[in-house]
Amino acid sequence: MNYSKLREDMVKHQIESRGVSDKRVLKAMREVPRELFVPEGLVVEAYNDHPLPIGHGQTISQPYIVAEMTELLELKGSEKVLEIGTGSGYQAAILSKLAKKVITLERIEGLAKKTRVLLKKHGYNNVTVIHGDGTKGYGKEAPYDAIIVTAAADKIPKALIEQLAEGGRLVAPVGKGYGQELLRIIKREGDKLDTEEHGGVIFVPLIGDE
Ligand code: SAH
Repeated sequence: MNYSKLREDMVKHQIESRGVSDKRVLKAMREVPRELFVPEGLVVEAYNDHPLPIGHGQTISQPYIVAEMTELLELKGSEKVLEIGTGSGYQAAILSKLAKKVITLERIEGLAKKTRVLLKKHGYNNVTVIHGDGTKGYGKEAPYDAIIVTAAADKIPKALIEQLAEGGRLVAPVGKGYGQELLRIIKREGDKLDTEEHGGVIFVPLIGDE
């Protein structure tokens, strides 16, 4: 398999063609080997235009959705980012190229362990994988310049809004089943929140206490 050719085609036909234009995001999507983050039996599908199962009933998102959500975070390279829902680690690997530090939380212990080893093995050294409930965020490292939630909840957990820095961006799917909407919340001066809608999406549910 010529993975670098598949990666080029993915960026051109699935991502740039749908309007993602942040040069740094496109570069990261060209660099991170997505085939490392899908189950062995599915590597031939790694660059297909849809999500894939990763075990434990969870999925790695469609490449375009990863690119779109990442672009909405507006990362320049100096940020501390929190991800909720580590899953395969693919989104975290993309973030690691675009920010200074990435903290990622996963509620399924087996996935957290496996992904921690994988990210380390491939040199994504600015990513910390934590096994825990992301609906509470991760107060120890707060505040965050950007927060990305890769599982859907009815409402954005309060702790995540609290842990967002002033000027910070939070991107999350909100809603049930097929009725989810991708939201971006920007925290302005005086804790004022601006909310934008960025289209319909389908994610696995966020399961947690909050
Ligand atoms: N970003 C991932 C997509 C993972 S799918 C990737 O690039 O592959 C969503 C993940 O969120 C699943 O692994 C699921 O177990 C996890 N999850 C669901 N609820 C959670 C919670 N409350 N805290 C942390 N992780 C959670």
